[in-house]
Order: sequence, then C-alpha cells, then structure tokens
Amino acid sequence: MPAAVDRVKMVVSLLAAIAAADPAAAQTSTSFEEFLKRARAEAVAKGIRPELADRVLAGVTPDDQVIDLLNRQPEHDRTVGQYVRLLVTPERIETGRARIAENGPLLEKIQARYGVDRHVLVAIWGIETRFGVSPGDRNVVRSLATLAYGDQRRGGFWQAELVGALRILQNGDVAAEQMTGSWAGAMGHTQFMPTTYLKHAVDADGDGKRDIWGNLGDALASTANYLRSSGWQSATPWGFQVSLPAGFDYGHSAPNRAKTVAEWMALGVQTESGSGWPASAGEWSLLLPVGAAGPAFLVSASYRAILRYNASTAYALAVGLLAESLASGLSPLIRWPENDLALSRAEREELQQLLAGLGHDAGAPDGIIGSQTRTAIRGWQRSQSLPEDGHPSPELLVRLRAARN
Ligand code: CA
Repeated sequence: MPAAVDRVKMVVSLLAAIAAADPAAAQTSTSFEEFLKRARAEAVAKGIRPELADRVLAGVTPDDQVIDLLNRQPEHDRTVGQYVRLLVTPERIETGRARIAENGPLLEKIQARYGVDRHVLVAIWGIETRFGVSPGDRNVVRSLATLAYGDQRRGGFWQAELVGALRILQNGDVAAEQMTGSWAGAMGHTQFMPTTYLKHAVDADGDGKRDIWGNLGDALASTANYLRSSGWQSATPWGFQVSLPAGFDYGHSAPNRAKTVAEWMALGVQTESGSGWPASAGEWSLLLPVGAAGPAFLVSASYRAILRYNASTAYALAVGLLAESLASGLSPLIRWPENDLALSRAEREELQQLLAGLGHDAGAPDGIIGSQTRTAIRGWQRSQSLPEDGHPSPELLVRLRAARN
C-alpha cells in the first residue's frame, strides 16, 4: 500500500498504546452526524459540489470494525528476514508467473511506456492484494469518514483522503458504491490511497475512466506511473545481493554513504551471483537488512522509488526479491541468520533510553527505529570497535545493558 498508509500504521500502533493508557483519549465529544456536517462543509470549501457531497455522505454510519482494525496491534514484531520469507513464497512466485504469462502483451506495453520492470509491477500487485484477489470490499467513503471521526490524532490526514475520495467520485471515474478498498481506504489492485490516485492514476485503455478496481491495465499502468514519478530509473535494477570482503568497514552501510559501482568494487565488494555488475551509472547504497550477520545488498534509485510507495525496508526488499523470482522462477537464495529476532516495542524503547544514557542521543524513546536511532547505534558501535551496522539486534541490547552497569 502507498507510503502514507505505512506511516499511518506506524502512528496507529502508537495511538493504540496511548488509547489503552488513557481511555478518554479514544472518546470524542462530537457526534458522528455533527462530524459529517463539518466534513461536508470542508469538502464543499475545497471544490466538491454540494449536491454530490450531500448524496454521498447521506446516511453514512461509522464502521466499528474499522476502528477495531485501527487499534489492532501485531502479536509479534517481525524482522525484515521473517517478513520477506512470509511474502516471497513459492505459491506467490508460481501464481505471479501465471499472471505474467496471461498478461504478456499488456505488461510489455506498460513497461515500454513507463520504463518500469514488469516483474516489479506484478510483485507489487501480488504483495498488495494477492494479484487482485483481496483488494478490500469496504466502502471507502465510509471507512475514511470513520477514521477522520474516530482517530483523534490523525483526523486531518483521513479528512484530506476523504475529500480526495469525494473528488474521485466527482470526476466520474467510479460509482460511489463501487469505490471499495481496505479498512484504511487503500483502493484497487495495487492499493492506492485517494490522494495518490488523484496525482498518479492513469487511464491506460483509453475508455475515459481511471479504473484501478476493475481494469488491470489501468491499475498496473498507474503503479508504473507512480514509481516513475518517484524516481524509478528505467535502465537500473532495484538492487542485487553482494558479498563483502573480510575486515569490511560496515560503516559504509550508513544511508549517506552511497557510491558508484566502481567505488564499491574498489572496496572489495563482489556480486553474490558472480555475474557482472549492472552497467548503469548512479549511486548505490549498501543495505544490511538484518545487520552485519545477515545478507548484504546494493540498492539503487529504483529501490528508493519502491520505498516511496511504502516506506518500509521489508516491503521494498520483498518487492525486489519477488520480482527477481518472478523473472527466474527460482526462490530467492538468501542466507538469513538463524538467530534473527526482532526486539519488542518495550525493548526498542529501552534500547533508545540506554543509548541516550551512554551519550548517543536516539531521539524521544518512541520505540520506532528511525534514522536517528540507527545513527546513535552506529556511534556507540564505533566507540566499542564493534561492526558499525546500525542494526537493533537482541545482542546489541544485551551489550548496552551491560555497558550501563
Ligand atoms: Ca480505463
């Protein structure tokens, strides 16, 4: 699903924690009817025709299941390796290859037009909705109105998406009852949020409608158009697995240390497959998804375009590896470490507090491992002459606890 939803998911788990601690935070003093009146007024102020707003919002009721889903917490946190193995399965590879075979000319045409690898498009399709099997059947206006009303902290975000949904209906791309999606309002084969749809969806078959729900060509061309706008480079693969020489300085995996292929070669980095290096220019970043103990990848601007679609390393890597498997028919050959475990939220907060106590500011201890936390980890690892991979492993937490005592 598009990046905005991923960010929301992150905030959502925070919200759930806050709501659990303070039941009053989940309450609201406005009735849903009053909220709908205000939402209508805001939509009209933003150019939605009053009669359309009246017709679409009339009789909308809150969807309690949407609020339950908003507050849902994952039972277990997963590492990137666990997430990738969950998404890139033999079954998904097999189904994806069948879909590619069935849609050959369509996919060729989209790839030629937008310069985006068709295997990546089909990988996104497969991961978002299992190739169109599960696009979500909730009424998008109802879901977004529920979230704009019930999510006290992110109401403005959902309200903007609600106005976007009304604008789509006003443009006539889809009938109100057919505008369905996930609980979070992500729509169609590749799960566009309404504002993303308005900016990036295209009418590939030329029937005058951008039908990402019912027309596969429209959906995948829209996805290709979005990736291209996000910086996808047509001659540049998303990335590839590499092996690192003995004694390698893992500090090169910091996000601000992208390099050309020639520079990586000079550091002794080799392609894992033993095949040649991609000819493309541009800068490549070293990605260590589970730290120095796990696999290493060089990733390109095209990989960063996938991150714009959904700002999650696990997602982007799963898309890239599934795309490769769709092309080759083989499952990814990645050696994930056996003791690859994720820290819980409480442990991540503890890690951030320990780092701060040791003089490496990881920002507010919110349990979210962002760039500031990774930089703090790298700083402490450097001070201890440990491999500087910035990875929040259970072993690191044990070391930090020991260092504090
Ligand atoms: Ca169309």
